Amino acid sequence: NGDPSEEVQRAQRAAAGRSISSPVPPTIFTRIINKSLPAEIIYEDDKCLAFRDVNPQAPVHFLVIPRSPIPQISHVNTGDTELLGHLLVTASVLAKKEGLSEGYRLVINDGKHGSQSVYHLHIHVIGGRQMGWPPG
Ligand code: IMP
Repeated sequence: NGDPSEEVQRAQRAAAGRSISSPVPPTIFTRIINKSLPAEIIYEDDKCLAFRDVNPQAPVHFLVIPRSPIPQISHVNTGDTELLGHLLVTASVLAKKEGLSEGYRLVINDGKHGSQSVYHLHIHVIGGRQMGWPPG
């Protein structure tokens, strides 16, 4: 497809501005964690928080993020196993609380080809409508 969507173009610009050797800059999600940027936070604990996506792709769309600024899923290592498990269990518990009894989609976008636009690891929890497959 020669006409990438705005979302994909944004992700490609974000990827182009990064390199492995550069230090990880704080993202907009750090400001949400610090409460210096308002967000509709639906859950938080000592390791993670969850808040509604500002540009929802379905009736329910929230993000679960670690407090620790891991940039992306391809950067994790075995030391992150417990934290990643916690993020997934939190996503599942919150999906139930949000009433997604008919199912839902979890998504982690990674890097340029994954159309990642914010380089602070996050799990999308998307539901409240029928999902299609394959994703675009
Ligand atoms: P990615 O494309 O997987 O990196 O997803 C980033 C997500 O963060 C997108 O779905 C955006 O709509 C969402 N997002 C960006 N900025 C904010 C914000 O300030 N509050 C809530 N969600 C945001």
